Amino acid sequence: MFFLVSTPIGNLEDITLRAIKTLKEVETILCEDTRHSLPLLRHFGISTKVESYHKFNEEKNLPSLLARLKKGEKIALISDAGTPGIADPGERLVAECRKEGIEVVPIPGACAPIAALVASGLPTTRFQWVGFLPKKKGELETALKDYLDYRGTTVIFETPHRIIDTLEMLLELAPKRQLVVARELTKKFETFVTGKAEELLAAFKTPPRGEIVLLLSPKEEEEKEPPEALLKELLQEKGLRVKEVVEIAHQMTGYPKKVLYKIALELQ
Ligand code: SAM
Repeated sequence: MFFLVSTPIGNLEDITLRAIKTLKEVETILCEDTRHSLPLLRHFGISTKVESYHKFNEEKNLPSLLARLKKGEKIALISDAGTPGIADPGERLVAECRKEGIEVVPIPGACAPIAALVASGLPTTRFQWVGFLPKKKGELETALKDYLDYRGTTVIFETPHRIIDTLEMLLELAPKRQLVVARELTKKFETFVTGKAEELLAAFKTPPRGEIVLLLSPKEEEEKEPPEALLKELLQEKGLRVKEVVEIAHQMTGYPKKVLYKIALELQ
């Protein structure tokens, strides 16, 4: 039997009784990083044998793990934090177990995207979790455009050194969209900051530290594209300077001046 056991994402009290019991009863615990997980296991009096299982040895270890599971060994998988398989190792082994008819048992618990979603204040009836964003600018833009088109809440894993770039791009792509930055969930400095990209950028003059989940509110039917036609029209009017055009368009549409300025310069 193969168990996927969720562990805390910050607050040690977020381990379940069933998780502790399972981790004590199995014969082997696969850990993403044994040095990271041993203190947690010791804390809960779990002395089960551990083995490392991460993306770099996943492929190599797969056949022997499947053979052991088939023979009846009880094995659990934990990641550094949260639920295995969610931007952490697990998916591949579970798929192979299913193919081979090996029983897979989830032991649910902490999961950062779900904790962020349910407390964000954004709709929970329909959502997509998309993991981490691409690093390259072009790919990031394509991905964000795609996610902004979704009619449910989008849940994204972010990092302190990239959140500002992401918010800058969201300011251009969807300045009116409501966003939530959920930080350090279940920990001492847990915070939720809600606002449009411009407001969040103002709130994060220094980039937020720690672990971050970013949420995008759903696309709404009446969401408007930036007013390019209006800017074009105003720019063609005699005597109006770019600054004045931007001011008028801002008054008329409520679009952030920074975005309007960029478009007006491109149109000129
Ligand atoms: N499997 C984990 C889970 O179920 O939550 C997620 C692992 S993923 C490698 C790590 C990312 O999850 C972080 O970069 C961050 O985006 C998010 N994350 C994990 N713990 C968090 C926390 N306590 N607060 C906010 N975000 C967190």
